[in-house]
Amino acid sequence: MLPARPALASSLRSIARPIVLPILPSRPSTPSTPSASTTPRRTVSRPFIVSAAPFATSCCGSTPPPNVLAVKNPSSSSSSASSSYFSPCLSSYFSSSTSAFNPPAYRSFNTLQMSAEDVSKYLRQSHDRLFDNNRAWAAEKAEKDPGYFAKLAEGQSPEYLWIGCSDSRIPAEQITGLEPGEAFIHRNIANLVCNTDLNVMSVINYAVRHLGVKHIIVCGHYGCGGVKAAMTPKDLGLLNPWLRNIRDVYRLHEKELDAIPDQDRRYDRLVELNVEEQCRNIIKTAAVQQSYAKNQFPIVHGWVFGFHDGLLKDLKIDFQAVLKDVQKIYNLADA
Ligand SMILES: [Zn+2]
Repeated sequence: MLPARPALASSLRSIARPIVLPILPSRPSTPSTPSASTTPRRTVSRPFIVSAAPFATSCCGSTPPPNVLAVKNPSSSSSSASSSYFSPCLSSYFSSSTSAFNPPAYRSFNTLQMSAEDVSKYLRQSHDRLFDNNRAWAAEKAEKDPGYFAKLAEGQSPEYLWIGCSDSRIPAEQITGLEPGEAFIHRNIANLVCNTDLNVMSVINYAVRHLGVKHIIVCGHYGCGGVKAAMTPKDLGLLNPWLRNIRDVYRLHEKELDAIPDQDRRYDRLVELNVEEQCRNIIKTAAVQQSYAKNQFPIVHGWVFGFHDGLLKDLKIDFQAVLKDVQKIYNLADA
């Protein structure tokens, strides 16, 4: 039996943070009744929360989590807000109350009402901001090193393959100080490596056989929404088969996990065990086994990122011991 688990909405809320809305032109101080010629006013009915889990809004179908931004037309008799979500991806950089990644200007306002025109302007601003940032970044790089982009265009030879969670709070390069060209990146919900997932398997194959990466890192994170959702006894539709992989990790380590009385600690341990199992899945691949036999690399590492201090924890996967163990059954070293 699995231990008691929180409800899905509760799980998702626990990893979400309140969002504040960006600077927008001030709206009329008196929201008069819209005339026939004006756009109907919209009311933000709840505080805007952006979930850390990339599927947090979409996986809930037509029923939004209770504190995800919902925009409704007051002229409508329906209280449903399902048709007017802001895109979670657009909201992601307005999300954190503690993150250093957020520009202060985007953390100063908490508007309860926005007109349709303001919403439209907000979307335009949040889109255009990325191009502003890009131009500034390109100019800075070119100024520091006039040959920077010529070198970048020559090709890539990354040292690392990074397989991480899609969670927006864990930018691989930023937390490790890597520059463009140094890491080949793959991210998905809960950093899974499934042998039937052609995406991740292609990434591993290409990174090992063609790019010759020296290290493969699986990086999970505490408070992972995917792991929490997997442990929620609820039908999540399309996500069921994906999250089943995490339930299987729980089943493999059921005794150890059930013996942990504290639920948060149990989830933390499941996050670690999930990373370890994904490392094992990588070591089972022919590409890794054959490359290691020939070159002594890549080495596979399991790490976990913590939001509370921004530090990475090395789970110290014993690569050679795991390789020896899996090759009893999964020996694909001979080409
Ligand atoms: Zn995650």
